[in-house]
Amino acid sequence: MNNSYETVIGLEVHVELSTATKIFCGCRTDFGGAPNSHTCPVCTGMPGTLPVLNKKVLEAAIAVGLATGCEITRVGRFDRKNYFYPDNPQNYQISQLYFPICRKGSVEIETKAGKKSIGITEIHMEEDAGKLYHAEDGTSLVDYNRSGVPLLEIVTEPDLSSGEEAVAFLEKLRTMISYLGVSDCKMQEGSMRADVNLSVRKPGEDLGTRTEMKNLGSFRSVIRAAEAETKRQIDLLEAGEQVLQETRRFDEASGTSFSMRSKEEARDYRYFPDPDLPPVVVSDELIEKIRSEAPEHREARILRFEKEYGLPEYDCKILTETKTLGDFFEEAALIAGAGDGKAAPTEENVSSSYKKVSNYIMGELLRLQKERGMDEDEIPMSPEHLAELIRMTEEGLITGTVAKQIFEVMFDKDCDPRAYANEQDLCILKNEGVIESAVDQILATETGPVAEYLSGKEKVLGYLVGQTMKALQVKADAGEIRALLLKRLKDRSE
Ligand SMILES: [Zn+2]
Repeated sequence: MNNSYETVIGLEVHVELSTATKIFCGCRTDFGGAPNSHTCPVCTGMPGTLPVLNKKVLEAAIAVGLATGCEITRVGRFDRKNYFYPDNPQNYQISQLYFPICRKGSVEIETKAGKKSIGITEIHMEEDAGKLYHAEDGTSLVDYNRSGVPLLEIVTEPDLSSGEEAVAFLEKLRTMISYLGVSDCKMQEGSMRADVNLSVRKPGEDLGTRTEMKNLGSFRSVIRAAEAETKRQIDLLEAGEQVLQETRRFDEASGTSFSMRSKEEARDYRYFPDPDLPPVVVSDELIEKIRSEAPEHREARILRFEKEYGLPEYDCKILTETKTLGDFFEEAALIAGAGDGKAAPTEENVSSSYKKVSNYIMGELLRLQKERGMDEDEIPMSPEHLAELIRMTEEGLITGTVAKQIFEVMFDKDCDPRAYANEQDLCILKNEGVIESAVDQILATETGPVAEYLSGKEKVLGYLVGQTMKALQVKADAGEIRALLLKRLKDRSE
């Protein structure tokens, strides 16, 4: 790529709020209902109906504004954005143009290049549109279940200079918002979408003409779209041509974008204040209430986990990547650290239990989530069962290898590990006779390796331990087998 240009990116991020009801009526917002079953005269734009702002939407917008260091607008307003399309029954979308609820914030991101502050121009509240289905016979159907679902649009300054930085910003925003509990921010399910505004320029020059790529639904497509568009614009400029201000659609399959329409300006929508909604007045008390009731954010949780559970910073960062994972860790750790109820656990035992919980999550749980293609918020097992599994290893009931096998079954079926171990006969063999006869059996059949060992190749011992373990279906303690093998081999060498 031509390095004499720099890329300038601003984002418009749409986040779907997880309120129980829509922004201006009492209809439910959950997915999965029959088409048009979550609708009423308000969200289908019937004449004579009046919208009423859902207070939860306002509170969520303020919470996000406070988390991103924004100024909260004390007297705001809703505006009508006029456009004509069947997904929009009113022929206008209720949005905010002149007095958005939040302005002038910033979010700090960290990439390989270091830390950088990204300005937030504004955050506004608006309603989502319905969905169109185009059937093969040429007819189209419309479902207004999504019509009126609350959205926040978060607009950044053009402070980002690569797709990687844009993704770092989106990741940070997603973590912040999901910790606030106001949206699940799942890109793959469309509850978080990004429009990428991009231009190129030579350093020191004024901003170039920008294009907008709409509705990118994954971090990967944000990076790919930014790279492809940077190259396309540089190629145009180098060829002496102009970049047109337009809206483009990025095609994931071909990795290229194509023009959808010339980019519209705000004036194209003939915005005007919505006369049906009174001004949005925000009191000091409301802001203070939201500030004081804000849930713990990720940075605070990292520090608390380090202090309360004595874990390394590395662990704490991974465990807090999503709120769900951190909640899971904490529940499992508290149960595992409480011991078996028979004797008071020592401080040392407790902190080793915490570390074991952390290790299982960072190792096994995240690996299985990835292998099963699950979302990072999806944890199909209960924290009680993980704590129980750790207790069983601490009691010396199962080996580490068996524990990992049981973990995988628990992950898929959320079964009780103790019952499962008993049922499948997986507990460590306490019967010394069984172990002894397995050792003798191995010594009798593995004559080659035994001879090698006796001739001085001590490394062979590991193999013999492994074979014995295998014969015992890993249900014995490796140390015990090793000691017994050594004893027998020593007897033979004498
Ligand atoms: Zn409705």
